[in-house]
Amino acid sequence: MQTTLLKGKTALVTGSTSGIGLGIAKALAAQGANIVLNGFGDVQGPRADIEALGVKVAYHGADMSRPTEIAEMMAHAAAQFGRVDILVNNAGIQHVARIENFPPEKWDAIIAINLSSAFHATRLALPAMQAADGGKGWGRIINIASVHGLVGSAEKSAYVAAKHGIVGLTKVTALENATSGVTCNAICPGWVLTPLVQKQVDARAAAGGISTEAATAQLLGEKEPSLQFTTPEELGALAVFFCSPAGNNVRGVAWNMDGGWTAQ
Ligand code: NAD
Repeated sequence: MQTTLLKGKTALVTGSTSGIGLGIAKALAAQGANIVLNGFGDVQGPRADIEALGVKVAYHGADMSRPTEIAEMMAHAAAQFGRVDILVNNAGIQHVARIENFPPEKWDAIIAINLSSAFHATRLALPAMQAADGGKGWGRIINIASVHGLVGSAEKSAYVAAKHGIVGLTKVTALENATSGVTCNAICPGWVLTPLVQKQVDARAAAGGISTEAATAQLLGEKEPSLQFTTPEELGALAVFFCSPAGNNVRGVAWNMDGGWTAQ
């Protein structure tokens, strides 16, 4: 159902050609926001799905590990739509290995894509958000962290460090803008069945010589009491709440949607 909560607003979602980012982009578009897509792989499918919701769609293929490309993406978004009202820092990658075996170049890539990119996009988005609404400011920055922004798991050193970092960045961004209409919050999902997690299920199935179904049940059973995946649609609905007037005084939270993972 298309509603008009965000009509006239522009949302830039990094890493929105797939998974959670695409789910959030669709949810914001369903509320009337124009969308700037970013990410690798197929763009035409996501673009057509979102255009079918009756909003305008732009795309920039910035590699989020590269600050100069992030700056080009933000300039492209401003040229297309005037300014970015809603920034969703979502692009992310994973690599699983013990610290002594963790390739340093994977560490650097995860910190760059999962953490530093959010700093760069945020610093470039903030001035226009702060100037909006006659100088009172209006903006929404939503950082897609993870339960791994709140707790650790073995073999995910770079990911856990980056996600704890983005929860910290969220708090500082919220505090620096606390008296304005610019809010910043983090979403901390548990398991979501996207290509990023499918790779971990497949690796587990291969290592254990077990079926995909058995590997999936094992993965959920170890950490997530609900034994259910969170969906991109559920995460999209939470992002819409943060963007709504009711989210006006929600500032600096790290909101887990994790089937009880961090309640244990
Ligand atoms: P995904 O692999 O489905 O999507 C990742 C997106 O990021 C894709 O659009 C991809 O093209 C893009 N991307 C990757 N590297 C990029 C780069 N260098 N520059 C630009 N775009 C790049 O993954 P997902 O599961 O949807 O993950 C999205 C976010 O959610 C990540 O930050 C991830 O850490 C977080 N997250 C995922 C889960 C989960 O269970 N899937 C749980 C918690 C948090």
